[in-house]
Amino acid sequence: MNIKKPLIEHVLYPLMEKRRGNTVRAKVRELQSTERLGADELRKRQTAALTELLLHCAEHVPAYRESGLTADGIRSDPWGSLAKIEPLSKEAFRERPDDFLADNVPQSARIANHTGGSTGLPLRFFMSRDQVERYEAARWRGLGWYGITFGSRSIMVWGNPVELSANAQKKEQLRERLLKNRQILSAYTLSEQHAPEYLKLLNRYKPEYLYGYSSALAEFARILKPHRERLKVRLKAVVSTSEILFPWQSEIIGETFGCPVVDEYGARDAGILAYACPEGRLHITAENAIIEALDPVTLEPLPPGREGVLAVTDLYSRAQPRLRYLLGDVGAVSQETCSCGLGLPILETLVGRENTMLVGPNGELVHGTVVSRIAQAHAGVKGYRFVQTAESTGVLYLVTEQGAHAAEEIAAEIGRVLPNVEITTQLVDKIEPSASGKMSYVVREFDLPK
Ligand SMILES: [Zn+2]
Repeated sequence: MNIKKPLIEHVLYPLMEKRRGNTVRAKVRELQSTERLGADELRKRQTAALTELLLHCAEHVPAYRESGLTADGIRSDPWGSLAKIEPLSKEAFRERPDDFLADNVPQSARIANHTGGSTGLPLRFFMSRDQVERYEAARWRGLGWYGITFGSRSIMVWGNPVELSANAQKKEQLRERLLKNRQILSAYTLSEQHAPEYLKLLNRYKPEYLYGYSSALAEFARILKPHRERLKVRLKAVVSTSEILFPWQSEIIGETFGCPVVDEYGARDAGILAYACPEGRLHITAENAIIEALDPVTLEPLPPGREGVLAVTDLYSRAQPRLRYLLGDVGAVSQETCSCGLGLPILETLVGRENTMLVGPNGELVHGTVVSRIAQAHAGVKGYRFVQTAESTGVLYLVTEQGAHAAEEIAAEIGRVLPNVEITTQLVDKIEPSASGKMSYVVREFDLPK
């Protein structure tokens, strides 16, 4: 039996909470009490939180003081006031981050963080303790739908060198094992020859769940699939985060581990925004954030169900609020209800990063997922990356033992959906993740034509 779990859950965690004045568990309970409310009640709560946020911005945040927000206007029509705010791109934020710092939050109360810069330069930003705890609580609420709790043992298949610089790694590993009941497996060194070690680790350590980047988890599953008969561990879930979880990845992970494959949608600079329920649909953390889908070119809001670039307003950001912040992701917000019983709105078709939308003939947008489907349908493909370098050129990098003709075949199929693109192919030994550890399968390297 895992004696550490009750120890962590009932002794270590409460102690740590007390010492740090942390209120994550109370916040989880709060979220659990609202997750089944109907759309109207949730909207009422969002309206109240949004009003507070906008009043704070109008009074204390220089970037929004000049935006024409007035206290009366906010109180009489908070949603209309929000809609008047111009969506904020990461680039625009990066140009003047100090203007977004609230003047009533002292430096000592600001928690610094930064993104890994997988889609460009790293981004530095500040959060408040309350905000960070709300993010954490949203994750635990989602994990709770699968019976996973604070002390649940896990293995993290992780590869973010920003978090795990070589020196810090050993210390981190120890802390991970002792306090968090978690072991970290480097996504960088995953290889078929280590399969026996992975089996041993899983069978001895007996984690309740695996957590990691979808690309790393899919690779881990691919390596272990031929040995799955020897897996003696029953996982409650495999939780994928940080990257889009493609259906083919979900499939191989599910086949290998025989458990639910759960999609966590979050961003370091926006929190845990949605969690997949047991029905497999992504439920928005509506208590913490407002998510809008906007037209990718005009940035006008789209009707429910229509796909666009996602803008998030973090309702409890106080240190450095960013309203209608463009995450760089593409998806649609649905008005449907889910049969799982949760009242939280659904994020439909989270299809990828903004830069995975490719440009087809006559400027028409083509989802990168189309290319993924083509590459994945070919047996023997062990890795791929398609880069659209300009409207009329692209490169397909492929890992396969079947030689150049396989690459030519796939390129020809991609050419049918992108007839405007001349595709060159390159066979490679390995597709390397970006510096942040994330894997991009499909990338557009230029701005969308306006
Ligand atoms: Zn559901």
